[in-house]
Amino acid sequence: MFVEMSVVSSHGGIGWEFTKCLWAPKYKLVKDDERKWPYWELLLKVKAGDTILHLRGQNNPIFVGYSIAATDGYLTEIKPSNPGIWGYAKKFIRVDLENYTELPEPLRLSDLFDRRKDELIKHYIKNSNSGKEKKLLFYTLTGGKKLGRQNGAYLSELDDDLFSIINVDAIRNKKTESDNNKELQQNIITGSVFSSIERRRGQEIFSRNVKLNFRSMCCYPDCDIDDQSFLVGAHVSRWADDVDARGDVKNGLCLCVFHDKCFEKGYFAIDDDLNVIIEDDNKFGKTIIKKLLPANGIRIKPSIENPDPKYLMKHRQRIGKHS
Ligand SMILES: [Zn+2]
Repeated sequence: MFVEMSVVSSHGGIGWEFTKCLWAPKYKLVKDDERKWPYWELLLKVKAGDTILHLRGQNNPIFVGYSIAATDGYLTEIKPSNPGIWGYAKKFIRVDLENYTELPEPLRLSDLFDRRKDELIKHYIKNSNSGKEKKLLFYTLTGGKKLGRQNGAYLSELDDDLFSIINVDAIRNKKTESDNNKELQQNIITGSVFSSIERRRGQEIFSRNVKLNFRSMCCYPDCDIDDQSFLVGAHVSRWADDVDARGDVKNGLCLCVFHDKCFEKGYFAIDDDLNVIIEDDNKFGKTIIKKLLPANGIRIKPSIENPDPKYLMKHRQRIGKHS
């Protein structure tokens, strides 16, 4: 995970703006000298699928949302349409982003510093002393006790330890009027600010485990797709329908995107003996049924842990196949 710290949303111009991509010049120019800047170089470490948390604003920045990296970090000679003071650079580093999600409760950096002061100080000191493992952080510590934003930290690293520190309960300041018209500030805990990120990370781990369980191949009998970018770790009983079964690898099938869609839409189901069931139903597209039919009655590919029949039954019930 990473934190992007940006001041203006339009930086870069059309196609390069906030939530479209991360970008930075490849180097700083100091008296005609090209100097690398670690908070820019870090863009090259981003991998497709990584979560990027956005910290926005100049004076009192706010964590406003997060995006997912659509590409690994890459070098490009294409200039941003409006590079501003970075127009000198001949090369840029860029990461394309997708799926921007606003946080339900945006979090002010100053509130975070207030609420998690001790933990953040401890983390900072520990990180400073961690030698080669040292991470680039979005904040600094001055005089051993004052937390502040790290200037120039365009992109910084957010490991699990730091994420768990900043994953605080939201504070909403609710103004209520008492009898004598004095304003009271009430802190209301509204749950984790970053619960949607936690959920996403949970899904990532589940998906990875499910793929490993099926040795990273589509488990549909006659499908040989093993390209990672075409595989999903699909839930048998749906994520939204079955809270307890969310992380259970026995509630997962490794499918290619085509068979995932077919399974989700109910074109086929799987019986308790793990055989594919297809009912040629009028409501389904003929060409797709024709493509699926050769595997009717054939067992899905073996896995280390077999899918649990109770989830397979829930899927059959959901799509209306009770057999
Ligand atoms: Zn497949």
